[in-house]
Amino acid sequence: MASRRAPLPLLAIVASLCGAAVSQESKFTNSISRSCSTTGNYTDGSQFKKNLEQLLSTLSSAASSNDWFNTSTVGTGPDKVFGLIMCYADSNTTQCLNCLALAPAGITTVCPGSREVYALYDACVLRYSDTHFFGDVVTYDIDDSVMFWTLFQEATEIDTMVQARSRLMEELTKKAGDLPPRLNYYSLPYKDPLLGTDVISGLAQCTRDLAPSECNRCISVYTRRASILFPNNSGGSIKGYNCYLRYKLGALNITMPPQRTPPTPMPRITDSERLPPSTPPTPPSIFICLFVWRRRNRNKIFEDGDVFDDELAMEDDFEQGTGPKRFRYRDLASATYNFSDERKLGEGGFGSVYRGFLTEQNLEVAIKRVSKGSKQGKKEYISEVRIISRLRHRNLVQLIGWCHAGGELLLVYELMSNGSLDTHLHDVGNILPWSVRYEVILGLGSALLYLHQEWEQCVLHRDIKPSNIMLDASFSTKLGDFGLARLVNHGQGPYTTCLAGTMGYMDPECMVTGRTSVESDIYSFGVVLLEIACGRRPAVAREGEE
Ligand code: ATP
Ligand code: MG
Repeated sequence: MASRRAPLPLLAIVASLCGAAVSQESKFTNSISRSCSTTGNYTDGSQFKKNLEQLLSTLSSAASSNDWFNTSTVGTGPDKVFGLIMCYADSNTTQCLNCLALAPAGITTVCPGSREVYALYDACVLRYSDTHFFGDVVTYDIDDSVMFWTLFQEATEIDTMVQARSRLMEELTKKAGDLPPRLNYYSLPYKDPLLGTDVISGLAQCTRDLAPSECNRCISVYTRRASILFPNNSGGSIKGYNCYLRYKLGALNITMPPQRTPPTPMPRITDSERLPPSTPPTPPSIFICLFVWRRRNRNKIFEDGDVFDDELAMEDDFEQGTGPKRFRYRDLASATYNFSDERKLGEGGFGSVYRGFLTEQNLEVAIKRVSKGSKQGKKEYISEVRIISRLRHRNLVQLIGWCHAGGELLLVYELMSNGSLDTHLHDVGNILPWSVRYEVILGLGSALLYLHQEWEQCVLHRDIKPSNIMLDASFSTKLGDFGLARLVNHGQGPYTTCLAGTMGYMDPECMVTGRTSVESDIYSFGVVLLEIACGRRPAVAREGEE
């Protein structure tokens, strides 16, 4: 692919040649660098062009409304096109949204016919290609051919500044890739009497498709290069197509992408069965609840009981609110080639999960098809739609929609392209780097904090285990599967219920008393931590393996 591109000159833009002050940074806000492939060009009216246009408009709208980052694909075979867009964290909201709108809109004019483009703007980066590139660092980013600028004004106390800067760079390099937004910013004290600044600040950012190790690798190349490019300078920046490093004397204005707006909450569940008084279970209730059904190879146990039969009532409930939407069965069937085995991502106790492509939304999704006739499956389906659809957090798998029609129950989730943690911990040949394990733990902890403390009610998940912990394209952690979840009021004591969960991950106290609580979830969290650290499943879960 690189051979198709015009040779890229060294894109070193050295600016502010005559003692620029910090205020002159605005001079660089229009800087742009791009690389357009020049051979094998697409033609007007070609399928590739149509796919590209669709991709560019998706990138623009998806990134503007969602975390200021998006990767998308459109089309199939040789006409398939892959795209990525992301804002830099030191641009403000207006600059970012302008860039997300204008960059895709103008790129086909500045790179006519190109099947591969890398474009850097002051506020965002845009890339598209006819070959898969997500997760790969562009070679230019590691070579010399990246764009940089520097403020030539010297720091007053050069030695002290250089020392502070190298400590700053160390911090930035250590952690840039370790956090899900692939972004780290930091300030250290350094007083410059002439410039009137008190701190030295830095930002390291990578595109979010990169694995933590790749991001750290790219940033560490930049930090080494920074000390050569900017010996005494009061500021400097190196910008590549995947990574970005910047430092300056004084504070940096960092704008984090907005959290997704939570949808209007759906009507409260009035079902008293879900919020019983927290009295200890009487012996007969324990007897009934301890009816254990072993799931095929899963050792999962769950409460027995009636399921809701009134699908129309369900529909009324679900339809309200602005979150997930109801899908037509035929759209979901066609998205998965009629639930074909080739599209199957995995199978649980109550159904199978398929990879699907929704043409209308131009979106890849995971579709869970609940086994027909399973009462527990139906119960989990209802619980899942009612609970997860009301929650929004970057570490929770998002429910996009549902469908119950013709005896089928289907749940549509955002696709987690790196599957579940389970496979990464236990499949032969998969070695999960420690930095990713660390990040998974942080992400899971953050999801639990949200569920237990930060939402309007306390959400007990009750089935925390590696197959319910998903990893997205950039290995960010997302907790999924809310089929057994229950809502309780904050401060309420343990919730008396029948048993639910997966053997090996369940709190033994909960198994004895039948009372579940925040602590029971934390017990399961602890078991998962051990599994992440040792790479071994808990004893009971191992027993059930084939
Ligand atoms: P259980 O029935 O006890 O929950 P399980 O977690 O293995 O068992 P499912 O929840 O049905 O079963 O999920 C089956 C598999 O499908 C998961 O292990 C995972 O690999 C895959 N999967 C589920 N949701 C997604 C998703 N959103 N994106 C990608 N893969 C998914
Ligand atoms: Mg599951």
